[in-house]
Amino acid sequence: MSKILLGAIEAGGTKILCALANENRTILREIRIATADPTETLANMRRFFHNAEQELGKIAAVGVGTFGPIDLDPRSGSFGYITDTPKTAWRGVDFRDAIQQICDAPVMIDTDVNAAALGESTHGAGQDVDTMCYVTIGTGIGVGVIKNKAIVDVSPNIEAGHIRIARHPLDNFIGVCPFHGDCLEGLASGPSLNERWGSAPEALPDHHEAWDIQAFYIAQLCLNLSYILRPDRIIIGGGVMSREILLDKIRISFSEQTAGYSLGRARDLEAYIVTPNLHSPSSGLIGALEMAWGYQKTMKT
Ligand code: ZN
Repeated sequence: MSKILLGAIEAGGTKILCALANENRTILREIRIATADPTETLANMRRFFHNAEQELGKIAAVGVGTFGPIDLDPRSGSFGYITDTPKTAWRGVDFRDAIQQICDAPVMIDTDVNAAALGESTHGAGQDVDTMCYVTIGTGIGVGVIKNKAIVDVSPNIEAGHIRIARHPLDNFIGVCPFHGDCLEGLASGPSLNERWGSAPEALPDHHEAWDIQAFYIAQLCLNLSYILRPDRIIIGGGVMSREILLDKIRISFSEQTAGYSLGRARDLEAYIVTPNLHSPSSGLIGALEMAWGYQKTMKT
């Protein structure tokens, strides 16, 4: 059997992880590159992939999970372009084509959230279920949905971060969403914690009321996803979730807010609402590898 090499890229707002792996998805080479201006960043990516290919051989396909917003409609003339990102130097960059030029291989591109969802579904905390939601709570709030080990393709993409939610009775903060003020992202993203409490989330003690309010909002997202999609599991990651007490608080608030209305699998909350299993390599990088693997497998059959 010939050796298959897969490329993977997890592109975030501050860093970009690039990797080469074999067909078992074992990572052979990996690098972390700062997300600087596009010219410098793409030059660093080119150097890594060229050196790695010289050592290991030709890449068959590349999977990419990226920050955005990005145009993911294959029928669009700007498919694969970064669009209205606050990182202005990246606006209008044809990221998909740039990677295709660097690697001279087919590129499968999706959002960072969808890539992480796929990674957790295939190798992480969602391996044993068919349908799952992956939620990230960080600078923004994103949701990816997986069914039968594949990303559910909602074009352009799910915008669950901006849903309307009921306010916590003790919360009169106006919210930070530039569009809606107090949508979910406006009230429960990392920047909203900073703004509401005048302190970085890491500096707030475990007993601070911030975490009860935060859990109340994230539990509402879980509740809405449960009623709309009926997933087998909800996996919640992202920087804000590094606060360990939050997971249990979310489960308790979720249970209270269901108010006894039956949700099937959601009754076993320790199995239903969990945190990611993959950390190094990350869910996003593993998901990107799975995207590349899935593509080259289709090409062989
Ligand atoms: Zn909003």
